[in-house]
Amino acid sequence: MISKSQLLVTWTGLLISAWPLDIVVENFVLRLPPRSLLRATDTVVHGLIGGFSYLMACIICPDLVLNIFRCLPFLQFGSGSNKHEALNTLFSFFVAFTISSCIDLDHVIMDVMQIKRMPLQRGWFHLSLFPLGLIIILYLSALPFHSLYCVICATLSILCILSHHIRDGVHHGLDFYPLGTTPVLPYWLYIVLTLILPIGSTYLSSSLIRLLKPSLESLTESMHMV
Ligand SMILES: [Zn+2]
Repeated sequence: MISKSQLLVTWTGLLISAWPLDIVVENFVLRLPPRSLLRATDTVVHGLIGGFSYLMACIICPDLVLNIFRCLPFLQFGSGSNKHEALNTLFSFFVAFTISSCIDLDHVIMDVMQIKRMPLQRGWFHLSLFPLGLIIILYLSALPFHSLYCVICATLSILCILSHHIRDGVHHGLDFYPLGTTPVLPYWLYIVLTLILPIGSTYLSSSLIRLLKPSLESLTESMHMV
């Protein structure tokens, strides 16, 4: 059962990050010198958009929540399931925040390695064709390989990588190298895409998970029998 109040609060967080906060940070960053560390505030906005988007996905489809206790088993303490649920949700937000933010690392790597950029050349992590191909492969692999992780990784890629590219697309368009680049995205289109992306991708992911569940349950049963 979806908690409508949680969904509304998260969606409001996403809207505030994508619009008013984006405008404030944009104006702030414009006044900074080119190599100022404070330019990282722009990356924080990317992180918040990715984090809130994936949080929405987790509220709509709880099967997408990442399990911190599987990644960090030493944290398995106490027995309160509510506490575990809250930690898993926070962990999911944190992972999505980190992936969205790390895409800007290509700027840092290029600066450190002193790679000269052409005027319109984007960093490697900002090319959209590879993540798009990866998302399609992950979704297509989920059913034959009975893998929930394929669906989780595809959803994370859409909401963290593509949403980052869409926000940057307001300045540069989306780069589908070697096929070409789209025109610069209108600001309203960026807002609309950012707000509907979590709903659209979660609808697709939850439909796939519904198809996957019978095979996952029979796999678990056969493992118990062994
Ligand atoms: Zn970027």
